[in-house]
Amino acid sequence: MKKSVTVTQELSCKKEYDIIVVGGGLAGVAAALTAKKRGKSVLLLEKSTILGGLGTLGLINLFVPMCTGRGKQIIKGLCEEWVRMSAEYCYDTIPDEWKDGEPKEPTLIRYVQRYSPYIFALQLTEQVKNAGVDLLFDCIASQPVMEDGHCIGIVTESKSGREFFAAGMVIDTTGDADVLRRSGMPTVTGQNYFTYTGKAISVESCRKAAESGNIYDAFIGVAGGNASLYGHNQPEDAPRYSGTTVDEVSDYLIRNQVLMLDKIKEQERLSRDIAMLPMMPQFRTTCHIDGDYTLTTDDIYKHFDDSVCAINDFDHRDVLMEVPLRCLTKKGFDNLITAGRSAGGAGYAWDMLRVIPPAIITGQAAAEAAVLALETNVAITDVDIGILQERIASDNIMVHFPDELVPEDRSLPSEAVDIGHI
Ligand SMILES: Cc1cc2nc3c(=O)[nH]c(=O)nc-3n(C[C@H](O)[C@H](O)[C@H](O)COP(=O)(O)OP(=O)(O)OC[C@H]3O[C@@H](n4cnc5c(N)ncnc54)[C@H](O)[C@@H]3O)c2cc1C
Repeated sequence: MKKSVTVTQELSCKKEYDIIVVGGGLAGVAAALTAKKRGKSVLLLEKSTILGGLGTLGLINLFVPMCTGRGKQIIKGLCEEWVRMSAEYCYDTIPDEWKDGEPKEPTLIRYVQRYSPYIFALQLTEQVKNAGVDLLFDCIASQPVMEDGHCIGIVTESKSGREFFAAGMVIDTTGDADVLRRSGMPTVTGQNYFTYTGKAISVESCRKAAESGNIYDAFIGVAGGNASLYGHNQPEDAPRYSGTTVDEVSDYLIRNQVLMLDKIKEQERLSRDIAMLPMMPQFRTTCHIDGDYTLTTDDIYKHFDDSVCAINDFDHRDVLMEVPLRCLTKKGFDNLITAGRSAGGAGYAWDMLRVIPPAIITGQAAAEAAVLALETNVAITDVDIGILQERIASDNIMVHFPDELVPEDRSLPSEAVDIGHI
């Protein structure tokens, strides 16, 4: 029996783009739209069949708070636009205090929105199409082609077979740093708790929805693993998963799916169905870059000269951070950048960085950096920070948080500090 095979194939370039964005999650869509708005040719590659990543496919349909917790909005940009857009045709859960924008008076009510993952995904497709971004669905970016730290393009696998697309800049928004890891950039592997949550409906829940007039009431939570961000509900017999090998991904999904069915079997027999199952593993972290800077909780309230956006904590009031460009890049890789959950951070600081609102605005910031690097013919790590920050600010993104928002008590709750995952 043959023990190994070697596959070699000469690939001609199918098309050349200024910017290729790999991964159509929320960070990737934000990056693609931003680069296109600046007049660049953009290819967006998505391995599934809808846009939005964990925010749609993964059923994580909640914009976590985008404010200080005292009525001041921190995260805006495309995130603000999408929050409003996501409330247009389905359920609008934006709190009354925030319905018309930032409240006039201080409030402890936080600015959040839960949305329909599927209607929102359709809206994203419409936006990408109308913007003129080339979008390839069901198309996996399998390999970056590297020459001395420079990525000349991306090899893809799809129904068309193996193809090659050339690029001036590549933005890796796979969430898993797939492209950057394969380019040789150092990365850090995470550890995930056991989570697999979906939505069911029953005759009774539909009746409730009919009574309330709110379709959201028709959905009942259904779960295999149900571990929280902090590891609560982690089953004792379940391992923690990195999610970076096909064996781990498959074991995680198989165990979770069997557990979900076991739980259903234990319940009273009902006329019901599962309306939504996560179509990508609900891993919070698989792999993120070990970039030129790693954000930690020591950076809370710190200003950075190369900040590309200010972000707030979703779980604790007042907590603010800035994200330096260096969290998205690595010296020696002149045309590669990341955004979203594969940005460089550790512990709870990384949790603050990876959730949906920061993923969106880091996507925009990465695109602005890529566009500027192309226009000025410099490495992405050497862009003019002043010009970059001006452009990012013109996208309605806060680059530096105002000092008057920093509280006297700067301590962070111990649960956040002790979170213990990387
Ligand atoms: C259990 C759980 C609960 C969470 N709860 C919340 C919450 O309540 N609110 C919140 O704001 N955030 C929450 N988050 C975090 C948030 O969902 C993610 O961090 C965020 O959506 C990440 O966005 P992204 O665009 O960086 O990556 P992803 O959403 O992971 O998008 C990556 C995209 O790239 C595609 N892709 C991957 N590899 C390739 C490839 N090789 N070729 C082509 N395409 C590829 C994927 O299909 C996907 O569409 C939660 C996460 C989890 C797992």
